[in-house]
Amino acid sequence: MTRPESSLIHARCLASRIRNEPCHMPLPCSHCRDNGRHCLVYLSSRRCSECIDRNVKCDLVMTQPEWNRLDRDKECLRCQLEKAQDDLLDYRRREEELRAREHQIRHELA
Ligand SMILES: [Zn+2]
Ligand SMILES: [Zn+2]
Repeated sequence: MTRPESSLIHARCLASRIRNEPCHMPLPCSHCRDNGRHCLVYLSSRRCSECIDRNVKCDLVMTQPEWNRLDRDKECLRCQLEKAQDDLLDYRRREEELRAREHQIRHELA
């Protein structure tokens, strides 16, 4: 069991690292979506700044290959976001695909 204080400090530290290079997720985690927050993720942290700030579990959890792929897609996604603000329906569909894949991955890891 880690001490709550030290994990909180660790979380704050991670959160500030995330703010140094935020990646705006086209698919916000459910916490950000429910709270209407921007889901800003530093790819090496695997959690978004909101969840780290609040020290809650971020359901934006993916396997390393997924994150590697996301990292490669990051610039591409950013371009798409700028050019296609009205393409939300497509992102919603991808969100569902990602959640289904996440569920599958969790199932395989269980
Ligand atoms: Zn989030
Ligand atoms: Zn989150």
